[in-house]
Amino acid sequence: MFGPETCIGVLGGGQLGRMLAVEARRMGLRVLKWTGGDESGAARLADVVLTDPFGSASALQRFLDLSDVATVEFENVPRELLETVEEHLPLMPSSKAVGICQNRIREKSFLADHELPTTPFRVVRTEADLALALTELGADAILKTAEAGYDGKGQRALRANASEREIASAWTSMNGVPCVLEKKVDLAAELSVIVARSTDGTTATYDATENVHRNHILHMAFAPSRAPTALAEKAEQLASRIAVALDYVGVLGVEFFVDGHGELLVNELAPRPHNSGHHTIDACETSQFEQQLRCILGLPLGSTKLIRPAVMWNLLGELWPNANTPPNWSPVFETPGAKLHLYGKHPAKAGRKMGHVTFTASTLDEALARAEACSLSPLGPFGEPNCAVLDSMSRDSERRQGL
Ligand code: ADP
Ligand code: MG
Repeated sequence: MFGPETCIGVLGGGQLGRMLAVEARRMGLRVLKWTGGDESGAARLADVVLTDPFGSASALQRFLDLSDVATVEFENVPRELLETVEEHLPLMPSSKAVGICQNRIREKSFLADHELPTTPFRVVRTEADLALALTELGADAILKTAEAGYDGKGQRALRANASEREIASAWTSMNGVPCVLEKKVDLAAELSVIVARSTDGTTATYDATENVHRNHILHMAFAPSRAPTALAEKAEQLASRIAVALDYVGVLGVEFFVDGHGELLVNELAPRPHNSGHHTIDACETSQFEQQLRCILGLPLGSTKLIRPAVMWNLLGELWPNANTPPNWSPVFETPGAKLHLYGKHPAKAGRKMGHVTFTASTLDEALARAEACSLSPLGPFGEPNCAVLDSMSRDSERRQGL
């Protein structure tokens, strides 16, 4: 499958496909992206870009004619389209795996069936379900749409003692779509693991990263995480188990909550490279994007070794002085070990992921100091990462001091 004319068909038009295309081009491959209507500009690096909606029969025909193998760069691709593509082309990950990950009800039921720890939840299809679910959970909770949510979209917090009116208003805001109500976890930390699984069933995990969110959007990721080694390794083992249980081929992002007792709960699964794995481009022997290509082309998996500790900082649209004017990047260019990645998106909007910066150094503390120094400039501030509980957990000097 790996050859100069091999064309990777990618469903989705965002930055993950863009970074996949960079790696594919470096490796001499061709890339076709079907954005489904995403006109943000992130797809521009592909050899061929189709911007038609996912329902277009002519775009489907072109996608099938030109691609040798297909993959997804985001999970919200209609299931029927994935099934059709799969009838004609090798699709990795499979429509079944993506179908589980794209729907929180299926995803949580799958995890529960495999005895994988998740946040307590209830399925909610009516306002009455919601009221009952809140009583049953007996705690502050978060209502989430079962499908199509990302970066905190499609979520609504509810207090345990929410009034009837608040419950009704939360339900109305979901427009009647199926939802889950999840117990709000008292978060000590968030971790994630990128796991890769090849066509022959070999799996490889990257070191767990520690993720700091702001307004439900990933803000920073630290690699390696500052969690105790045993906890990070447990997360890595759980991620491998999930990839095997899904009979997964490709790169899978597994998000974890660490609760107040230091227990791991699986938050959600991303059937594609993941935002918390962007440091792998600059800090690991094989980036998550090259790894995805290796998986779907049946090549041997690459080493997941972290070469240098890294801090990844997401650049959201609010850093832009206005929709079409980028910030002054001088502080980034002047910081040693800092790599600027921009996704070619227009226009800048609050909450929109426009790019990221990876700061590497010989220790994680130094990488963080570099990131902090950079943010003290006109570009910043990125604010305090909230790691109080992790800090109080037993620190592992080996992980913390790097490699
Ligand atoms: P998305 O698909 O938008 O990433 P998530 O379910 O991962 O949705 O939620 C985004 C973020 O919101 C999480 O990473 C976490 O910081 C916060 N969050 C979501 N659910 C919960 C929960 N049950 N308890 C505490 N925090 C939560
Ligand atoms: Mg998430």
